[in-house]
Amino acid sequence: MFDFTVDTTSGCARSGTLELPHGTVDTPCFMPVGTQGTVRALSPNDLRAVGATLVLANTYHLHVRPGEEVVAKLGALHRFMAWDRPLLTDSGGFQVFSLEGFRRVDDDGVEFQSHVDGGRRRLTPERATEIQWTLGADIAMAFDHVVPGDADEATARDAMERTLRWLARCAKRHGELADGRTGGRAVSDGAVVRPSASPPIRQTLWPILQGGTHRALREEGLRRILDMTSWTGLAIGGLAVGEPKPVMYAVLDALAPRLPPGLPRYLMGVGFPEDLVAAVERGVDLFDCVAPTRNGRNGSAFTPDGPVNIRNAEHREDPRPLDASCDCETCTTFSRGYLRHLFVAEELLGLRLLSLHNVRYLIRLAEDMRAAIRRNAFGPWAEAWRRRYLRSGPA
Ligand SMILES: [Zn+2]
Repeated sequence: MFDFTVDTTSGCARSGTLELPHGTVDTPCFMPVGTQGTVRALSPNDLRAVGATLVLANTYHLHVRPGEEVVAKLGALHRFMAWDRPLLTDSGGFQVFSLEGFRRVDDDGVEFQSHVDGGRRRLTPERATEIQWTLGADIAMAFDHVVPGDADEATARDAMERTLRWLARCAKRHGELADGRTGGRAVSDGAVVRPSASPPIRQTLWPILQGGTHRALREEGLRRILDMTSWTGLAIGGLAVGEPKPVMYAVLDALAPRLPPGLPRYLMGVGFPEDLVAAVERGVDLFDCVAPTRNGRNGSAFTPDGPVNIRNAEHREDPRPLDASCDCETCTTFSRGYLRHLFVAEELLGLRLLSLHNVRYLIRLAEDMRAAIRRNAFGPWAEAWRRRYLRSGPA
């Protein structure tokens, strides 16, 4: 369980297979984001139809609403959202540090204001681990301190050191939960965490590497994470948070030769097509991003020729599909003219159809990259892909 096997490499790019309790995930893999236990506007059937294998859900959001106890009473997260394939929950660190308004960080954890009811809440490494255990995803993430992309070295160092101390506490609590040692007793703030025995919970915990844009910090953080214990995966956090793209690529370049080949590498929050290609080129295996659904709801669609804004007047009488090469319901059923009409008329179906296509586009992009790696032709494939996608420049 939780085994990862790399079957082929092409330059730094890898294709592999990750075994999880709820199924197998082929990499490279794009995971759609189900912030509130739903990938916005898409049903589990839609997700299966577009080939999603791993879906991300959001610990912070599910904790503040409806609360992990409610999710647990309704059969834990897989049953709650009717998704029987692998799930990953983030730790809530990123959300807490992205919230507007009150927030106080100390070494114990973070106190913050709920965006739902304004109430003060506290997350600690132990609580974030317990909440994720209660939700029951296949992969839980360690609680981390995220800083903005332009943070100076002292700020990034402080957050990285705290993230490492928190990682040790997350790992300790996760180990206790997996051993059944908390045995249903009340833990912090009165929540009761189920022991692993009934029903059995099989979950792994992945560390998150921080260190901002400072390469030396990133390299040191990686070393210290790997020295701590043996992990089943590794996430790279704190990138794509406002720094220029070449800076993100330089951090990945510095890390690539130092990453253990046997661990899946998850680049958090990265999901524009050109970033996926650049990151796979640098040895990354897993991605998540809200871009496909968020952009889809705004009428922006990914296509092999670059982004298309379906609201534009040029599509008014266009009988062609959004993306002639795409096999999704949107592209095999409807014309650009009809999709534009749905957006102009503010019909809900438009939001669903563009979200569906964009998620399929990124999953297919990951599938195409996997195929190119398996032909040992990733370099030429990426060059051809970029020539076409970036020809008109990003929208
Ligand atoms: Zn499509």
